[in-house]
Amino acid sequence: MPFYNEWPSVLLRTVYSIINRSPRHLLQEIILVDDGSTLEYLNKSLDDYISLHFPQGLINLIRNSERKGLIAARMRGVAEASGEILIFFDSHMEVNIDWLQPLLFEVSKNWSTVAMATLDYIKADTFLYEYNDNYLTRYGWSWNMIFFETFFRTDQYGETITDPRPGPAMVGAAFAINKDYFQHLGGYDQSMSVWGGENLEMSWRVWLCGGRLLHVPCSRIGHIARAQPYDFPGGRTQVTNFNYERAVRVWMGDYSRFVHGINANMQALDVGDLRERLDIKWKLQCKSFDWYLNNVWPELNVYDQNVQVWGRLMNKAVNLCLDNGNYLFQAEAVILLLPCNHGMDMQGFSLTLDGHLRTTLQCVSPIGSGSAEDQTQVKLRDCFLEKAATWNYLQVTQ
Ligand code: UDP
Ligand code: MN
Repeated sequence: MPFYNEWPSVLLRTVYSIINRSPRHLLQEIILVDDGSTLEYLNKSLDDYISLHFPQGLINLIRNSERKGLIAARMRGVAEASGEILIFFDSHMEVNIDWLQPLLFEVSKNWSTVAMATLDYIKADTFLYEYNDNYLTRYGWSWNMIFFETFFRTDQYGETITDPRPGPAMVGAAFAINKDYFQHLGGYDQSMSVWGGENLEMSWRVWLCGGRLLHVPCSRIGHIARAQPYDFPGGRTQVTNFNYERAVRVWMGDYSRFVHGINANMQALDVGDLRERLDIKWKLQCKSFDWYLNNVWPELNVYDQNVQVWGRLMNKAVNLCLDNGNYLFQAEAVILLLPCNHGMDMQGFSLTLDGHLRTTLQCVSPIGSGSAEDQTQVKLRDCFLEKAATWNYLQVTQ
């Protein structure tokens, strides 16, 4: 559990919840990595608190003399870890009852399974634990490299709705992985800086190199989502672009065209030496990105494949473009007409060979098939939940 200037009560809430809600014989140790915090309360008083209140050896507090960033701090913790299975935490969480066993169950069945808990929400302003009632929570991502919360379709449930289900992306924390497997996979890319993108990179790597990422609906962990209380040396966008681009260059091949189509600044970046990461890909004989797109995340639209035509749709009378309003991960959303200056992630559409007018997860469809009004108004609706409407591309002469 790396932390940087986490308020002590919040940090301890995380620690106490783990101790109180994990069978003692399954918990080897809790490793706290202070990533160069400057808050005075986290210095000696935290050491004192730990030695006074916790059994000897249960909490291992290690400190970076200066801030190295989340990725390096996690790797430092891994180097210290003595247990068989690693679980990564943020320092502002509360695990729920029986959170641990369902994760360990999956990882111990298969050493190359990465088991993810489902995140509940803890309100940043009240610290109230709020159950995420979407028990079918699934994490996905789009070409803008932003990951989001979406849902499972009924055909993906498995035998019961509480069965673990494969997912295309992971959140940064709250997952369990066999330590040997983590090392075998090459850990994290330690050249990535501070924060960001390491979760997507790892999701792709797990799938492409023979592993599996599972959502475990029965394991629940609350997380405080809040504005990040720290700066990014050089600026947040610079840092995340750098990290994303390292991941993209190693794994995406030609599909990077979509990422760069949205974020042109990434392409020209000097991202340093990638040899160590490319070696991993070669050594583990990892598959190409096609495989991931076809088998793990077919919902992500490859705009120019199996299409009659793709691009923006501009209404010439008003000079506005069809726009998904960034509601791209919802089952149903309004479709808007907005100035034609948004990226492909919002204004890219494909007219597929089977006639669907598609954005990332959604297709343009009439609201319904009942009344005349329902038939003449369109919405964005999930392409996979139901059969999407079909469209014809008509060449119009003025
Ligand atoms: N963190 C860190 N060093 C940093 C940035 C973050 O140790 O330079 C820690 C942070 O305290 C937290 C974890 O890494 O425990 C994940 O960061 P954060 O919660 O800000 O990420 P988010 O949940 O917003 O994605
Ligand atoms: Mn966090």
